[in-house]
Amino acid sequence: MKERSGATVRTTCPYCGVGCGVLATRLQDGTVRIEGDPDHPANYGRLCSKGSALGETVDLEGRLLHPEIGGTRASWDEALELVASRFSETIAEHGPDSVAFYVSGQLLTEDYYVANKLMKGFIGSANIDTNSRLCMASSVAGHKRAFGEDIVPGTYEDLEEADLLVLVGSNLAWCHPVLFQRVMAARERRPGMKIVVIDPRRTVTGESADLHLALDGDSDAALFNGLLRFLFECGAINRDYIARHTSGFDDALGSASEWTVEAVAGATGLPAREIEDFYSSFAMTDRVVTVYSQGVNQSASGTDKVNAIINCHLATGRIGRPGAGPFSVTGQPNAMGGREVGGLANQLAAHMDLGDPEARAIVGEFWQSDRVAERPGLKAVELFDAVADGRIKALWVMATNPADSLPNADLVEKALADCPFVVVSDVMSETDTTRHANVLLPATAWGEKDGTVTNSERRISRQRPFLPAPGDARHDWWIVNEVARRMGFAEAFPHRSPTEIYREHARLSAFRNDGDRVFSLAEHRDIAAEDYEAMAPVQWPLEDGATGRQFVNGGFTTADGRARMLPVRPPERKMPLDGSFRLNTGRVRDHWHTMTRTGKSPRLSRHIAEPFLQIHPADADAVGLEEAGLARIDSPFGSALLRVFRSDRVARGSLFAPMHWTGQLSSKGRIGAVIRPDTDPVSGQPAAKSAPVTVTPV
Ligand code: SF4
Repeated sequence: MKERSGATVRTTCPYCGVGCGVLATRLQDGTVRIEGDPDHPANYGRLCSKGSALGETVDLEGRLLHPEIGGTRASWDEALELVASRFSETIAEHGPDSVAFYVSGQLLTEDYYVANKLMKGFIGSANIDTNSRLCMASSVAGHKRAFGEDIVPGTYEDLEEADLLVLVGSNLAWCHPVLFQRVMAARERRPGMKIVVIDPRRTVTGESADLHLALDGDSDAALFNGLLRFLFECGAINRDYIARHTSGFDDALGSASEWTVEAVAGATGLPAREIEDFYSSFAMTDRVVTVYSQGVNQSASGTDKVNAIINCHLATGRIGRPGAGPFSVTGQPNAMGGREVGGLANQLAAHMDLGDPEARAIVGEFWQSDRVAERPGLKAVELFDAVADGRIKALWVMATNPADSLPNADLVEKALADCPFVVVSDVMSETDTTRHANVLLPATAWGEKDGTVTNSERRISRQRPFLPAPGDARHDWWIVNEVARRMGFAEAFPHRSPTEIYREHARLSAFRNDGDRVFSLAEHRDIAAEDYEAMAPVQWPLEDGATGRQFVNGGFTTADGRARMLPVRPPERKMPLDGSFRLNTGRVRDHWHTMTRTGKSPRLSRHIAEPFLQIHPADADAVGLEEAGLARIDSPFGSALLRVFRSDRVARGSLFAPMHWTGQLSSKGRIGAVIRPDTDPVSGQPAAKSAPVTVTPV
């Protein structure tokens, strides 16, 4: 056994939204020992394959270690001056909306806070959006429509305490593995717990379920509308709760009235008896948690799906109680923290709305700025359309790789190539995005960064450094602040540490907040540096930390304090009629995003080594695809070449391909290039799970 040489540091896993606590120790030979933190309430010592391989991903191979201008090494002063002057000149010549930031759920909350403050508070545009738009925007919009604020009501314990756990569009076993392990352990303790998985694909999660509903893609809203009708018909609604805590019940029920079991069967392709089985279980079980993830969010009707689910919980009063509630699981490590500081183009900081003049006045007063953006900015897909057509003339991409991860990725890459001025701050030197940068800024990586993240159950945890910053790498918050200072906003960006930024963020959350917003870190408004350093994982709102559960007695943050039930009109059932297939995309168990980190670990790469196409054997025969042969998929937007994997885990007419492979790793497996850039009309989230494509053998 290797000797320990450094102190063990308590930090947080940088991958998924479970937000597991990690103990990291630097050993004498320079390697890093990784263990699960037994005291962290998200994981109690557990780690999944990705988390436990973190020590294999912290080497410096491929790291961006120095600022570069036009591909040549530069000093920080030169790079920062150039970024600040080009942004200032562009704004002076073309106005604030001619510049944009595209940021990331990988950023820490403190990084996110200053980037948002600079763009929305001082540049005066809301053109800052984030890759969290691809992840959670439909849940954010659904929460705001229903609750008045972007709140996940429950906790992880609710999943363990449920008697019926419904997983919708979630491959929890692969995408949130430690939470799945907790659920499995809870079911062992309480064998009566029932699990229903709603997913077009038979995943590992689906195999663990008591009932797997393999519905047609994008028919979830019809299924939950039918559930609302069924609950009403069989007398399972909670009339007292509806009367005391909700509005809009009649309209919601009206929109559900046509959704008989037969109609739902027609829309979803499910057998009526499976639908009735699910509906009866839901109706008869008091403790129900419905977990939803990207299969719900990444859809052209994603926000409606979220509200159709929430409607059923509100109609039964199954929210704000142990083992009951709708629960959105976040894809990224800090998609929640980004939402708290207003990282999306339609949000303002501290859960305030950019579209609300009173909120703008509050934030302007707090930031002492009369330049706060007056209207929502461009959402991710729109933002890159604006880069492509020349409306955005200076773009700063932070900690993300849109040239691979956005839909219509070929257009995104061309937009980056044609944009007059592109800045990329990243930890990696060569990605499909960095190669289009005029200026490259080296950022610190996990293990070097210092700040906070918020997981899917609203729990704020510290990421702490245990490695020195290599080369000239700097923290993202420092880079943003230095640019802001050089743009003439030095007074508003005086921070010298993440503690100072966190303190300001906490103060803003409490500023003119008399309980009209649940999000509040008031108790941290004067947090001392040593308390920030020692901060244990904590759920917000801080003063309500006894259970962490929200809406225990109603008290929603709408104007009348009632949750809103919304009428939902499911989209027409659209099956490909022209020989094309419906392409579903998602994660594999052992890789993360565009693999800049997990791709470094041989053991993670062994699980699945190359991009693949899952296709039903009967479809494969019809198209002429052999197992392990090559298939080409095409859409009007681009194409990809993938290894054929014949499997009845996907339904006929459907395909599945992973999202991780980039142009750099496999010039043919870049799936973003194939995806049609459809978005949800409310949330702007891209529909990455139902792209029409054709398939041909190669
Ligand atoms: Fe990290 Fe998520 Fe795995 Fe936990 S479950 S170790 S947060 S990837």
